[in-house]
Amino acid sequence: MRLILLGPPGAGKGTQALRLVAKYGIVQLSTGDMLRAAVKAGTPIGLQAKEIMASGGLVPDDVVVGIVGQRIEQPDARKGFILDGFPRTVPQAAALDRMLADRGIALDSVIELRVDEDALVRRIETRIAETKARGEPLRDDDSPEVLRTRLKAYRQLTEPLIAYYRDQGVLRTVDGMAAIDDVTTAIDKVLPSEPTPARAKKKAQS
Ligand code: AMP
Repeated sequence: MRLILLGPPGAGKGTQALRLVAKYGIVQLSTGDMLRAAVKAGTPIGLQAKEIMASGGLVPDDVVVGIVGQRIEQPDARKGFILDGFPRTVPQAAALDRMLADRGIALDSVIELRVDEDALVRRIETRIAETKARGEPLRDDDSPEVLRTRLKAYRQLTEPLIAYYRDQGVLRTVDGMAAIDDVTTAIDKVLPSEPTPARAKKKAQS
């Protein structure tokens, strides 16, 4: 099973991804997590991404495409994966299409978690309050101002992917405002019962 979870920050992609991981035995590939690990480790990519992430902007396409390309080559991703936070732009989606075609594999579904922006801001504020109450450190980008920048980036650069995947016939939209368990049930209902069979490799076709 190869899936994409699409939705603005705070829509619950991470929560639903964890449930899909448990259900299908596939891996969650979160570009946000990978980039945060790179920032923590102080790698060249991390150094490049740190300020951009803290301000709520998007890391350059070639950087994230590079890390996803390497990650989907790993043995644990062979059985399938859930992309969480990638692609975020049309060029990233086009690069992903090429990557998958080169490997002779196809996406099963793109699940859009549809939410309302005011509710998102409230969700993030709750997450900040809960994190503080647990005495845990906040993420650099956990602030209402940065959230607004991230939502703007989502609207301008990521939302066009809804039409992109609708045109490919793989988009499935779910109400992300429902209770967590109900969102999980709705996702279950829209997923195909059989994973999409692998396509012949591009090279083999010519
Ligand atoms: P996330 O954990 O998915 O909310 O991502 C946190 C931050 O990492 C984002 O606000 C971006 O700065 C960066 N990021 C994560 N994924 C991508 C991506 N696919 N393209 C560009 N930037 C990304």
